Amino acid sequence: MSLPLLDQVTASVSRFSELLQPVAVEKKSIAEIVGRILAQPLLADRDSPPIDVSAMDGFAIRMADLQGEPLKIVGTAAAGSPPVELHPRTAVRIFTGGPVPSDAEAVVRREDADIAVDQVSIRTPPHELRYGQNIRRCGENIRTGQELLPPGTLLTTAAMSAIATFGASELSVYARVRVSILNTGDELIPPGEPAQPWQIRDSNGPVLETMLRLHRWIHVVHRQAVTDKLAILVEALNQQLASSDAILLTGGVSMGDYDFVPEAILQCGGKIIFHRLPIRPGKPILGAMGPGGQLIVGLPGNPVSVAVTAKRFAFPLLRKLGGLANVPQLLNWIPIVNPDSKVLDLIWYRLVKLVDNGKGELLDSHGSGDLVSLALSDGFVEVPAGQSGPGPWKYFSW
Ligand code: AMP
Ligand code: MG
Repeated sequence: MSLPLLDQVTASVSRFSELLQPVAVEKKSIAEIVGRILAQPLLADRDSPPIDVSAMDGFAIRMADLQGEPLKIVGTAAAGSPPVELHPRTAVRIFTGGPVPSDAEAVVRREDADIAVDQVSIRTPPHELRYGQNIRRCGENIRTGQELLPPGTLLTTAAMSAIATFGASELSVYARVRVSILNTGDELIPPGEPAQPWQIRDSNGPVLETMLRLHRWIHVVHRQAVTDKLAILVEALNQQLASSDAILLTGGVSMGDYDFVPEAILQCGGKIIFHRLPIRPGKPILGAMGPGGQLIVGLPGNPVSVAVTAKRFAFPLLRKLGGLANVPQLLNWIPIVNPDSKVLDLIWYRLVKLVDNGKGELLDSHGSGDLVSLALSDGFVEVPAGQSGPGPWKYFSW
């Protein structure tokens, strides 16, 4: 028995992904790396915390001194001050982040102590104070030399604290993936210009450009609309191949008389890896490799096809170029509140609007040219061939 269509499609895209090499690596200062992809392991250059520190404002004491007479306050340990000593029957006033004296065994919270001039009485009954309580131990977060972040990590704001803490002023990150967009079609005019009835404004260019610009590890180097002339397309493609790691084309990829994208790729020395997938919308999609190992994806021209196939197929391939391929992505599965019984023998990407509690409502769509339902959608679900119903289905958000 042959594999389900979805597995076949996933397999052919991952086979292509394996052929692609990540872009080069560059050094960047910490101010420039958020949103970029780490190309080296990030190691801890010291223990964290570097010494035992207090988790509270209060008093550092020994357990044996908890009972009995008030303790003399012999010193202060504030954050940023070097450690002080603690002698028997004394206490050290300590603040959050302050170094714990080496002989101290616990920190009593300020609110559990009564202070009289230079003496402190601890109100906590001995059995309620644990050895080590309110002390953050040296190295409890990580030890010197341990790997904190592996190569391939997307550097979100969450990673910045650790990067700053461990003294990395410069890091190796993958260079931004340089992407060019080529929109084909004799019918296209630039957005914002008055159109003849037989012309349309190029919307695929702006869609792809904004989708790509949301990611700091991507650099849109060029966007151009070209007419349906093989020679013009070959020239534009050759030019962009020289300065891009990836090229996304729209339109001209099916079997019509004006569909020159496959031929243009061949004339530029490219190799077609797959052409047509059992999907709707976007069936004529094409994946190719440029003569220098560049990623080329030909997306069918209809607006819904472009948005869906860029998100679903071009992005995973771009992630491979960017060094992100093995990083798990958040996958959402959502149920549909208004399922119907329509079934396709293709993998079906259906536009949805999110309704309450993370459920999706299928939008009434006029097909792959319906940019109105596209505009109203939050994303789409992937319905495997031969299936229908409420799901839950895998959800992709814009
Ligand atoms: P194609 O894949 O070239 O056959 O294009 C299919 C249809 O998509 C065209 O007839 C246009 O209506 C539409 N289309 C193609 N390119 C664009 C574009 N850049 N912007 C908006 N619509 C487009
Ligand atoms: Mg066309």
